[in-house]
Amino acid sequence: MKGHANIPWCSAEEWNQVILSIKRIDRLYEGKLDRVYDTAIKIRQKFEELSEPIEKICSHTCVYCEDVCCVRATIWYDFKDLLYIYFGLNTFPESQIIKKIEGNRQRSCWHFSEKGCMLSRIERPFVCIWYFCSVQKKYLVLHHHKIKESIDKLLIDIKDLRNKMEEEFIRVSCPNL
Ligand code: SF4
Ligand code: SF4
Repeated sequence: MKGHANIPWCSAEEWNQVILSIKRIDRLYEGKLDRVYDTAIKIRQKFEELSEPIEKICSHTCVYCEDVCCVRATIWYDFKDLLYIYFGLNTFPESQIIKKIEGNRQRSCWHFSEKGCMLSRIERPFVCIWYFCSVQKKYLVLHHHKIKESIDKLLIDIKDLRNKMEEEFIRVSCPNL
């Protein structure tokens, strides 16, 4: 998982700017971004397909975990996440993801609670869906080889779709590039 401090759009001002830029491009190129919308919706469908098997795996692994990745890792939304959430879910996260601070120490991701992640699976950064820890990988190989194959396929599909969505967005919004 991501683990350094070079996080984009951390301040409220930067976050507002990125939202406004995407919205402005959406208005400006109305009708030309259909492929971006369609691709984002396909990504959402694949996220939804992944939800059930991931839930199953987590119910056998995360509930017993003593070194929770959401506490350890530093996670943030990247540009593809933002495009997907805007065009595929018709919304925008309130802000960039940051870590909770206790005293002067950084703790868990601020979406993490005692019950796990407070975001629905389809709203999480892709890295949170893509990441399987060694315990989960082992569990899948030992008990659910078929599920592992279908999850791997869905993740590759999502990765490809995310690239296509971003390329199409850039192609439309920066025609001279
Ligand atoms: S994904 Fe792995 S490291 Fe993260 S909470 Fe679940 S079992 Fe723990
Ligand atoms: S967004 Fe959710 S799944 Fe991702 S690190 Fe934060 S709490 Fe964990």
